[in-house]
Amino acid sequence: MSELELNGLEVSFGGIRALRGIALDLEQGEIVSLIGPNGAGKTTVLNAICRMVEASRGSISYRGQDITRVRPHLIARLGIARTFQNIHLLTGATVLENLMTARHTQTPMNPLAALVFSHRAKQAELRNRESVEEILAFLGLQRFRRQAAGELPYGIQKVVELARALCLEPKMLLLDEPAAGLDTEEVADMALWIQDINRRRGATILMIEHNMNLVARVSDRVVVLDQGRILTQGTPESVQASPDVARAYLGMS
Ligand code: ATP
Repeated sequence: MSELELNGLEVSFGGIRALRGIALDLEQGEIVSLIGPNGAGKTTVLNAICRMVEASRGSISYRGQDITRVRPHLIARLGIARTFQNIHLLTGATVLENLMTARHTQTPMNPLAALVFSHRAKQAELRNRESVEEILAFLGLQRFRRQAAGELPYGIQKVVELARALCLEPKMLLLDEPAAGLDTEEVADMALWIQDINRRRGATILMIEHNMNLVARVSDRVVVLDQGRILTQGTPESVQASPDVARAYLGMS
């Protein structure tokens, strides 16, 4: 069984056909990169999987379950988490508060239990705190835990954004341009985090990325989108050597 399966997926915005029949299978444990020129439909693929946009045709299944029409808030509970290209952190809150907030969306506390802060609620809160501390340590973020997220350097905010997604304990992680705005050294670090998350935490990863260094370094497979369709797919080397891919990128410039 595939981890994630897109079947004839179509998404339209008014007259714009952003996705025109995408068929894509991800195996468990794979790292797949989505590349393609601006406007090719990459972000729309992630948005459709997270139910932030409606599919007008086709289906999406996750671990054998049809999720094409599930309510959006259930996506995270099923084990799918994502990061955003324009970082989605609570900028005035500390790193710790950002991560605890993410944990609470995963394990919402019964309001009545929270009111009396029963033994069970306390235990749940302790587990949340332990899990957050483990993620802070895993991504080397401990020393930033008390700082406001919005005051951190951009490169650190990208790692906090990754930590926020990990708080949902994802089995499937969707990354929207994790290397955007990072310098060469930070991109190298990001590549290591992504590989570690995949190998040590067992997450299947679907990533949009323009930085071909990162793509070539971590991807098992690269899928090229162009004008809402899959143009080609293969290993990073075969895709980089493809004349069709070069033509698609040139066509946009
Ligand atoms: P980029 O690399 O620039 O982020 P992309 O490959 O992620 O591009 P999408 O953002 O998925 O492309 O956009 C695909 C097409 O759908 C584009 O023509 C875009 O203008 C359009 N589109 C995306 N989201 C919306 C929306 N919410 N409303 C209207 N049109 C949209």
